[in-house]
Amino acid sequence: MGPPGAGKGTIASRVCKKLGIAHIATGDLLRKEIGLGSKFGKKAGPIMNKGELVADKLVTEVLRKRLAEEKGGGFILDGYPRTLKQVDLLEGLLHELGVKLDAVFYTSASEDTIVERIGNRRQCSKCSSIYNLTTMPPKDASKCDKCGAELFQREDDKPELVRKRLQIYKEKTEPIIDYYSENRLLREVDCNGLLEENMKNVYARLEEFETSKE
Ligand code: AMP
Repeated sequence: MGPPGAGKGTIASRVCKKLGIAHIATGDLLRKEIGLGSKFGKKAGPIMNKGELVADKLVTEVLRKRLAEEKGGGFILDGYPRTLKQVDLLEGLLHELGVKLDAVFYTSASEDTIVERIGNRRQCSKCSSIYNLTTMPPKDASKCDKCGAELFQREDDKPELVRKRLQIYKEKTEPIIDYYSENRLLREVDCNGLLEENMKNVYARLEEFETSKE
């Protein structure tokens, strides 16, 4: 977890690739539902475009559907839970699956870093790969390096919505950080630097975590 634009998605996808585990991002799941024109997507779309949080029940249903496909190899949840209610709902989902939460990685970044990064973020319309026009540019400004599909700027990444999303993050999501910190599950990672530097911090924290399990 972490504020919008801190690098959660990029970091989670790299870690998952390295560890061979699933990357489950509720934002991507919701965007997929929108693309399919499903009942979930029709409800979530207008809320996401306003930069607001989708109802706890709705996003949890979408997540439940995705978790049902899991085969037990482990996964990273990206962007969930985002409210205290979702912390409770997640407990229930994990209980149903018979798994427990090992750790909560918190990608921290300053407001200036976030606003700059989000403004330059572009995403692939097909495989969801993320680019940054200045620090991680695609070879062709409008196409995905991996699959060649069109890149787009998320509606909620437009500057007027970024401050609003940050405000909502502070109100609804930050209290979860305190909760997981008290539970001793939290691992904070400084993500103010360039990606490679942030990845080093992530792997160092991951190693500490693996050692603490032994
Ligand atoms: P993300 O891709 O994680 O930045 O999520 C994009 C948008 O999807 C958010 O601004 C919310 O509107 C919605 N969303 C994603 N995950 C959640 C969640 N756990 N709870 C509520 N809304 C969510």
